[in-house]
Amino acid sequence: MNDQPGLRNLRFAIIGAGMSGIASAIKLIESGQTDFTVYEKADRVGGTWRENTYPGVTCDVPSHLYRYAFSPNPNWSHMFSPGDEIERYFESVANDYDVNPYIRFNDEVTSCVFKNAKWHIATRSGLSDEVDVVIAATGVLHHPNYPEIDGLRSFKPPMFHSAQWDHSVDLDDARVGVIGTGSTAVQIVSAIIDQVRSLSLFQRTAQWILPISNPDYSEEEKESFRKNPERMRETYEFFSKMFTEGFADAVVDADSPQMKAIEEACVRNLEDNVHDPELRERLRPDYRAACKRLIVSASFYDSIQKPNAHLVTEGIERIEESGVRTRDGQLHELDVLVLATGFKADAFMRPMKVSGRDGVELSDVWAKRPNAYLSISIPDFPNFFMLNGPNGPVGNFSLIEVAELQIDYVMQLVDTIRSRRCREISATKEAMDTLDAARIEAAKQTVWTTGCHSWYLDDRGVPANWTWTFERFREVMAKPDLGAYEFVG
Ligand code: NAP
Repeated sequence: MNDQPGLRNLRFAIIGAGMSGIASAIKLIESGQTDFTVYEKADRVGGTWRENTYPGVTCDVPSHLYRYAFSPNPNWSHMFSPGDEIERYFESVANDYDVNPYIRFNDEVTSCVFKNAKWHIATRSGLSDEVDVVIAATGVLHHPNYPEIDGLRSFKPPMFHSAQWDHSVDLDDARVGVIGTGSTAVQIVSAIIDQVRSLSLFQRTAQWILPISNPDYSEEEKESFRKNPERMRETYEFFSKMFTEGFADAVVDADSPQMKAIEEACVRNLEDNVHDPELRERLRPDYRAACKRLIVSASFYDSIQKPNAHLVTEGIERIEESGVRTRDGQLHELDVLVLATGFKADAFMRPMKVSGRDGVELSDVWAKRPNAYLSISIPDFPNFFMLNGPNGPVGNFSLIEVAELQIDYVMQLVDTIRSRRCREISATKEAMDTLDAARIEAAKQTVWTTGCHSWYLDDRGVPANWTWTFERFREVMAKPDLGAYEFVG
């Protein structure tokens, strides 16, 4: 299989065949390490893009940025391509790089137990596996958050979460309610407003909206990308600079000129494009732009001003059989209710059982909140590496690039085991705690702590994010600081 002189053969389990699981598999194959299985609970690859099929689902990161570095795609249809196209991209990459034979579909890993320097994997179907290294590519936002609203289950007509869209429900001429005003709700509203009889958007918190239009790529442009990969690379460089310097670096410095520019663009969008002063004030957030995840949409304000759109800012009292009752006593009767109420952002790979060295349980270690050194390695959980784990970079930039940097970093850690330097490697608690203290200190300068409630914040109100620049993340990922790791065996 992967016999290379002097190197130890390792067996791997990759959990999840989404964006980061596919990339991990490809990197393993390319490094000649082909003794691995990818466990995927569903019947197809694609992760978040397989699960989110709601109308209007689009990535708000430009497609030429939101792609694997090793597989640029000249055929993107739009600057921000729709979800099903992104899903097809992942499927085609998995095909092109022969990942599928390694994937065990329709089987969910239920437990990982570390014993005698091996991870013992158990799956829902009853399969067991014994591996040296686990790569948890389980994604960030995949456990739907059902709102705790009285009477939620009493609603009789169709009701579903945005990530579990029921395509059998006909929206034509229907009275549709949408709860939530995050990126998802905003995309849904713009996509369905012209189809439905009425749309009631239940807004608990107003959102700042950055208006970026979404032009399509002409056939000529796609052809020129195909013929001239250098042009595609330049397009990538352009968006990369724009999103890292103009956005990722802005949000971690609340006083930066870039942050000011974003705020001004959002205010201008609201002032210029919402015409009724009363509606404008109801849509005006009382916190700074990008404190919550910034929403990108050039169509939302137009949509919410259409005659069949109703912005409901009165709080929800309860949900009844036929609609949503607001605190002013009004019943908003509906034929369909969409819960665009986000995800449980701190779940990560839970509820999977993970037991580390000496039986230490991840559920205990993470009882208060999840943590991992550089979002990758957890003390006492040797040879277990997370991709896009807790406190990593999140925001309006490419999580694919984050995952690729992390995978290359993990491969360097794996090399310490392959080269027989050790049998077990995990971050030390001291390294994790020291980094976390610095991360929390740096958080004070970010826009996320300027006075809003968001899924970025943990139970203490501390951003559960990478709180430095993206360049710093790249630097840290380039080469592991082995002084932060404990080697055993
Ligand atoms: P979200 O940003 O967490 O928004 C959830 C919405 O539901 C918020 O408006 C929230 O109000 C509301 N809500 C939650 N519980 C409620 C309750 N009990 N009563 C009333 N309202 C309630 O979720 P999301 O829109 O699904 O987006 C999640 C993340 O997914 C985004 O931030 C982004 O990272 C990602 N996403 C990305 C794209 C993309 O284009 N790349 C598209 C969609 C989603 P409050 O604000 O008051 O809490």
